[in-house]
Amino acid sequence: MNPFNYKRAASPGAAFALVENNSAFLAGGTNLIDLMKRGVTMPEKLIDINDIPLDKVELTATGVRIGALVKNSDLSEHPLILKHFPLLSLALKAGASPQLRNMATVGGNMMQRTRCGYFYDTSMPCNKRKPGSGCGATGGYNRMHAIFGTSDKCIAVHPSDMCIAMAALGAKVTLASAKGERKIEFTDFHKLPGNDPELDNQLKKGELITAVDIPFNQLAAKSHYLKIRDRASYAFALVSVGAALSVQNNNITDVRLAMGGVAHKPWRLWEAESFLKGKTATAANFEAAATLAMKEAKGFGFNDFKLKLAPNAIAEALALAASK
Ligand code: SF4
Repeated sequence: MNPFNYKRAASPGAAFALVENNSAFLAGGTNLIDLMKRGVTMPEKLIDINDIPLDKVELTATGVRIGALVKNSDLSEHPLILKHFPLLSLALKAGASPQLRNMATVGGNMMQRTRCGYFYDTSMPCNKRKPGSGCGATGGYNRMHAIFGTSDKCIAVHPSDMCIAMAALGAKVTLASAKGERKIEFTDFHKLPGNDPELDNQLKKGELITAVDIPFNQLAAKSHYLKIRDRASYAFALVSVGAALSVQNNNITDVRLAMGGVAHKPWRLWEAESFLKGKTATAANFEAAATLAMKEAKGFGFNDFKLKLAPNAIAEALALAASK
């Protein structure tokens, strides 16, 4: 591992004052430290933010505010989350292992980087790690890779489960810096690879995620997170689906759908949602929505199986959510 400086900050202001050109904020460190050990990322300074009081889950007038330093394990069991957003609890529990969830934070989960093997192997070409070096995965072993929103520069997927639920639930992210605060939609926080796959999200230099707000909804009774993976735990999604429905007299009044393991960002299925609103909660409608969701999908060889797996998973997740 390369040498680096280590500082602690007990307030956002103190953290911003420590920001340098090649510094990084350290929270749980469950991904950042791995990246540093492998030489994928080499910050000269780590700013440990764990003393900043951002570890509360609170009711607001319009929903629930989650501090960026709330641990994934605490969030998954929090009474407000279990009551209002069970989809988020299910997604959190599907991620990583209990030990990792005890360390990992909400903000860190959002900041985790792709698990593309070429990104972690510094002897291989990778536009995300070294812009302009090429993409090892496009013509290589791409079984875990994206089928939506890819570019000729990168076909990596975003690895989080938690973020899929937050995208589905219409969360908003609060970002702070020395210049002040701004809020963005959760679905806008992560970006597609485009021509600059080295950038995973819209965070600017020196900005810190401070909170995520989830607005109340009528979806708590019927929600399901379906994660399909190679083994039952501690594995990233081949395909995952966060599905939540509000059904009155068998009529769908609200629906949210987002997928993981298929794109460089949590992939919200806007068109499928529009199709389902006002329709009856039937298997035929769920399958039609899944077919609609797959319109733009494209495989790269080893991951072609996702073209079949993904629509099946969408229809299954909707059926499981509706059956609750
Ligand atoms: Fe790198 Fe993206 Fe290609 Fe993986 S898919 S090798 S992360 S550029």
